[in-house]
Amino acid sequence: MSNISFDLISIFPDYFSPLKLSLIGKAEESGLVSINIHDLRDQASGVHKSVDDTPYGGGAGMVMSPEPWGKAIDQVLATSNAESHDLIILTPAGQKLTQQLASELALSEHLIFACGRYEGIDYRVTQYYENQQNVRVREVSIGDYVLGGGEVATLVIMEAVIRLIPGVLGNPESLVEESHSMPEEIVEYPNFTKPASWRGLDVPEILLSGNHALIKAWRFEQAKARTAKLDRQTGE
Ligand code: SAM
Repeated sequence: MSNISFDLISIFPDYFSPLKLSLIGKAEESGLVSINIHDLRDQASGVHKSVDDTPYGGGAGMVMSPEPWGKAIDQVLATSNAESHDLIILTPAGQKLTQQLASELALSEHLIFACGRYEGIDYRVTQYYENQQNVRVREVSIGDYVLGGGEVATLVIMEAVIRLIPGVLGNPESLVEESHSMPEEIVEYPNFTKPASWRGLDVPEILLSGNHALIKAWRFEQAKARTAKLDRQTGE
């Protein structure tokens, strides 16, 4: 059974309490994943345990200092049994999260998430670990908007990754034909459940027909129409 370990580093470790719930909570309980949360401030020195400073070159806001980040990441690497590590630095300037990237990350042995705050993390942290053996640095964004910190982005990525790990979903068939997973790059067809009639809206009759070939063809057409509607909305 695969076991991926996740190390999350943040100045707000309490942000990660939802990880105890639902699929991820169960995945951890059953030993499919292990999750360790680290408070960056434990690596900060000085009375104020400061983790940020003014930006070189001027400009608004504060930048997270490399020193506590280096200590925190080194400690995580030193205590890991994994042979290779993916260091994910959350940033809106990173590679966009896609289902493809989530699938790649689900094959990793060890994922470390560096959650930035303020104007982000001193770029030398990226540069330093890019030059370390057995560490693959990935700057990742969850979309073209700016959040206050990397914690919520980490939760999003973890949810997308962990459900792909074999054994996490009760029925692995759920992963087949999902939006963004299909070879044709289309989204999923619309789904319906009981009752057959709700507020004057009936479930399409074909879904009640029991004819699997026709249902499959209908769903494919619906998925294409839904994808075309989405493309029109996003101007693609
Ligand atoms: N100054 C940065 C910029 O313009 O690229 C934005 C910094 S943002 C206010 C603070 C932190 O939130 C970032 O360091 C990052 O960790 C996280 N963050 C914000 N938006 C994000 C996104 N779309 N995806 C991933 N992380 C994000």
